[in-house]
Amino acid sequence: MQFKYLVIGGGIAGVSCVEGLAFLHPDASIGLITPSGIVKAVTKAVPVTKLLSDITVEETDADKLEGMCRVIVDNVTAIDPRVNSVLTESGREIKYSKLCLCTGASPRKIWYSPHVITIRDTDSVETLQDKLKTVKKIVVIGNGGIATELVHELSGVDIVWVVKDKHISATFLDPGAAEFLQETVLKKTESTPETMFKRMRYNTEGSAGPSLGPDWHSNVSLHGVARDTHIVIEYACEVERIVDAEETDTSCNVYVKLTNGKTLACDIVVSAIGVVPNSNILVRGPPFELATDSGISVNEFLQTNVSHVFAAGDVCTPRWEIAAHWFQMRLWTQARHMGSYAAKCMVGAVKNEPVLQDFAFEMFTHMTRFFGFKVILLGLFNAQTLGNDYEVLLRVTRGVEYIKLILKDGKMQGAVLIGDTDIEEMCENLILNQLDLTDIADDLLNPNIDIEDYFD
Ligand code: FAD
Repeated sequence: MQFKYLVIGGGIAGVSCVEGLAFLHPDASIGLITPSGIVKAVTKAVPVTKLLSDITVEETDADKLEGMCRVIVDNVTAIDPRVNSVLTESGREIKYSKLCLCTGASPRKIWYSPHVITIRDTDSVETLQDKLKTVKKIVVIGNGGIATELVHELSGVDIVWVVKDKHISATFLDPGAAEFLQETVLKKTESTPETMFKRMRYNTEGSAGPSLGPDWHSNVSLHGVARDTHIVIEYACEVERIVDAEETDTSCNVYVKLTNGKTLACDIVVSAIGVVPNSNILVRGPPFELATDSGISVNEFLQTNVSHVFAAGDVCTPRWEIAAHWFQMRLWTQARHMGSYAAKCMVGAVKNEPVLQDFAFEMFTHMTRFFGFKVILLGLFNAQTLGNDYEVLLRVTRGVEYIKLILKDGKMQGAVLIGDTDIEEMCENLILNQLDLTDIADDLLNPNIDIEDYFD
């Protein structure tokens, strides 16, 4: 078998790459190798701003891609760049002119016990759903988006949420935003909203952050057997050890020992502690150059160090000089952008045409829902890379909205927008055009002033 373009992996990056290739080079032969007949595709993208779209990701039959490419259900075991071919588990040798690796990342697994569930795909969510029919107490470990949504969705069970930071959801949120959401977590949101807005200089270090996708939890019911839900959060600690209970112990299934000295008895543990790139594909010849996070290093054209081999999505790590307001976070939107951009780069390489880097890499954008709130993160939303030298504008209406704007030298660098704030487009423009806001910073979040008038 031989293809002009070969893509490995049927996730968002792989499917976006195939779609891009089919569009840009319709008469070329394209192959997609995927271990299962189910692939993940963006089925709807509603533009929110120029750079941000509200995307719907669905699992779909790989057969549906057959109009664009030839789908090969198999697992790649090795790449032989000396003869431009990949070798598969079933013994095939498939040749390519350009290859793109979109093998994604796997959730980090540290503890092995029948009572520890690692959330990674619909199957693991179904396992959890099943276990919830009998469990009374559950320990959730992790402080990223998955753990945050899980704690929000779980009900009818006692939950202990173990977070390594001093506040919840630290991968995405600063302590203030976490406190805003925490009111919902602890079910004590007040009924009368009261707005507070202030401007302050921040002196803390900005914290930089880290497969199911958006809305993975919305189609599943995660109800336990109890009537009430109790949530306890254990801050600033990690799990030291997990020990299965003795068979004779009827009080629980497992004990979780924390670094703060506490030992928690529970029925199941759910672990959501980040991912590791699936970069360990055997290469016959010099191996892939890996970044410190084990991602395959790629240049600004998503090329790896192995000739004719590109990589996109969770499996890769950029080593180009990134734009001031962009950074990598292993998310669906980035997998999609990288997949489509990899297609452009591959076609550019084949046709010997210049390729301009995609505008999507100019600024970080992400949209999700936490605790039922719309959350939009733009640019250096957590003051990543700014050190101590930045200013924060904040407007909070309890239970309604949380707006945080990050300014440096009077220019907007990032924004956290929780709730229906309606200012995402303005913020995106201000981050991209770096307009000096010094004279209007005080009015920027004043609820009595329609700030968009300034820019008309
Ligand atoms: P994947 O989607 O992981 O696809 C990789 C594909 O490659 C898979 O089909 C895999 O089977 C295949 N593959 C691997 N090795 C081989 C091989 N050797 N041969 C052939 N095929 C191979 N992001 C968000 O933006 N919002 C969210 O709400 C969100 N929730 C998440 C929840 C969970 C539980 C997890 C784990 C991640 C979540 N993410 C979320 C992150 C998001 O899912 C990933 O960033 C995105 O799926 C990466 O896409 P990808 O195509 O690079 O990789």
